Amino acid sequence: MQKILIQLDSDKFSSVFDAITAYDAGVDRILQYSGIAPEDVRNLVYGAMFTRGGEALKNSSIFIGGSDVSLGEEIMAAVSDAFFGPVRVSVMLDTNGCNTTAVAAVRKIVSVGSLKGRKIVILGGTGPVGIRAAALMAGEGAQVFLSSRTLKKSEKACAMIHKRFGIEVTPQQVSNEDELKKILDTAYAVLCAGAAGITLLPESVWQAHPDLRVLADVNAVPPLGIENTKPQWDGKKIDSKTVFGALGIGGLKMEIHRQCIASLFTQNDLQLDAEEIYTIAKNMDQK
Ligand code: NAP
Repeated sequence: MQKILIQLDSDKFSSVFDAITAYDAGVDRILQYSGIAPEDVRNLVYGAMFTRGGEALKNSSIFIGGSDVSLGEEIMAAVSDAFFGPVRVSVMLDTNGCNTTAVAAVRKIVSVGSLKGRKIVILGGTGPVGIRAAALMAGEGAQVFLSSRTLKKSEKACAMIHKRFGIEVTPQQVSNEDELKKILDTAYAVLCAGAAGITLLPESVWQAHPDLRVLADVNAVPPLGIENTKPQWDGKKIDSKTVFGALGIGGLKMEIHRQCIASLFTQNDLQLDAEEIYTIAKNMDQK
């Protein structure tokens, strides 16, 4: 029986990136729906639920993409709402690559050493990637500090993390170099999760930092988030520091994305969001 992926995308055109990744993960056929809103979802989901019964249901799955993460979360909720009892199919949320990118960045940082009890800073952490990475690293036992240009925005992000993940992250404003040095004081690791093309960590600050051991940057668009690093660095040693650039992290992100798509077709009741994708990535490390 063919493995069919139903791609629900809120953008005008459904993502070519997501489609190619799905084919590379072994999907036989993709049904693409673009411009999707939460209220459109029910009948599309019914089409997946009522065609292949019992064991065969696992051969149909849903992927939620698009660039609007909040809308993606609403679509995910609408999809779950359409299911009843065991009549359901597996579903994965990775709008704007937020889950797979955050998970890959965290796995790279963890690969250097345990985060338990360590201070981790997420610069520009109020976007979808930063929020998820913060929650996952706090879940690893780290003390996580999340920065924004405004305290209000970082407080809002931390409140959202508490509501969604039940975990504490400390908000902090970073709007100048003094505040940057203050948040980085005694930090073990830093993740730059700011918008594309924005430098948040000058070389003079990271090079001189006595405690930083791991630096990671998910911004691949020049200028990079961490000044004078290379996007392809994948664990590059600079004195006592290990640095991961966006392309170094991106290679793992692609592997995780493909593994998650393949997992969708192993059973009919998976719901892959940040935590579940993190567990899949952790299991990949152990193989
Ligand atoms: P985002 O929402 O676009 O931006 C994150 C934060 O950056 C914003 O909340 C904002 O924080 C801060 N920011 C925006 N403009 C700024 C400016 N001019 N100066 C300083 N800070 C600014 O980011 P995202 O979607 O979470 O993505 C994070 C990074 O990961 C991006 O660089 C993105 O390109 C990359 N990414 C890569 C992949 C991949 O597949 N490799 C996938 C997804 C994302 P405040 O307003 O609170 O200061």
